[in-house]
Amino acid sequence: MKNQKTFLNLLFVAVLFLCGCKNTNERTVVQTEAYADIFAMDTYMYIRAYGENADTVLKIVEERILSLEKIFSVTELNSDVWTVNHADGETVEVSDETISVLRSALDIANKTGGALDITLYPVLTAWGFTTEKTHIPDEFELAEALALVDFGKVKIENNSVTIPEKMNIDLGAVAKGYTSDEVVNILHEYQIESALVNLGGNVHVLGTKPDGSLWKVGIRDPFDSSKTVCIVELSDAAVITSGNYERCFTAEDGKKYWHIIDPSDGFPANNGIVSVTVIGTDGLLCDALSTALFVLGTERAIEYWQNNGEFEMIIVTDDAKVYYTEGLEECINFEADTEREVLHRE
Ligand code: ADP
Ligand code: MG
Repeated sequence: MKNQKTFLNLLFVAVLFLCGCKNTNERTVVQTEAYADIFAMDTYMYIRAYGENADTVLKIVEERILSLEKIFSVTELNSDVWTVNHADGETVEVSDETISVLRSALDIANKTGGALDITLYPVLTAWGFTTEKTHIPDEFELAEALALVDFGKVKIENNSVTIPEKMNIDLGAVAKGYTSDEVVNILHEYQIESALVNLGGNVHVLGTKPDGSLWKVGIRDPFDSSKTVCIVELSDAAVITSGNYERCFTAEDGKKYWHIIDPSDGFPANNGIVSVTVIGTDGLLCDALSTALFVLGTERAIEYWQNNGEFEMIIVTDDAKVYYTEGLEECINFEADTEREVLHRE
């Protein structure tokens, strides 16, 4: 179900891209074009690149994605994350990439007051999000899982990681962002000047479109998956959304529950936000913040943006109102009747 939804998301961005392609101008495009469809990190990925030897470069990119999946996977035997989670309180050595992602995630966890917490895995398991057998956990089970959550207990020294026994880490909220940064780095390294990277709805564009115009990225309407709530036109940026429609279920009580969890109580973050999109140049930061700001709620997310900057954001609330930061004013397009408000710095 999730995969199907993700695939639709992907298709959706791809369709937008194709529409955007129609306005090619007279400039002769000499680049070669290549595509890659990859299933990795439990999601469909699609990359389109333009440049000499784009085909060969995409093969290198694909290998890199698969190697990152191997180290970040929670379930794959002997992945870095698996090794940390099965160390029974002992210290283990992991790769430079894992250390780098862990350090960044812990930094954002600190800055967001724990809204992002990479040790939530037992809680996600209690809700069944890790197995797709979703259900409301019983009170006791949830309390037990929540007692194991505390990113402050993850200790890192050089390439060594130590976590308490029974604690489990999961990089699900940040791994795709880091991966898109890596993909873009490789593309740059091989002189690719134009590319669209879509890792299951995490979009990262490199340069402009081959005709020199800006990429158009549609932000999904959380209330209607066939529509966009707005379209942003940009170059060289990551556009990453966390939404309550991605992985969710309706329980016996008739209520909807989703996969973005508030670490303070172990329940899906339910504060009026239905989606947060973060736009910036650092994919990992955008990915981490899209999850963390979703948890913080509109007011505290705005405050965070005002104090930290370095990114733009679009928040959609459950009353279908859209808040967007002032840096997007020139490049965001809405349907005329969308209720919206521009956010300014204090
Ligand atoms: P998606 O993976 O659907 O694109 P996100 O980037 O928002 O969405 O990541 C959500 C994933 O991160 C969840 O599937 C879960 O594994 C994990 N997660 C959920 N809530 C949190 C949280 N508060 N902090 C860290 N990780 C979280
Ligand atoms: Mg995220």
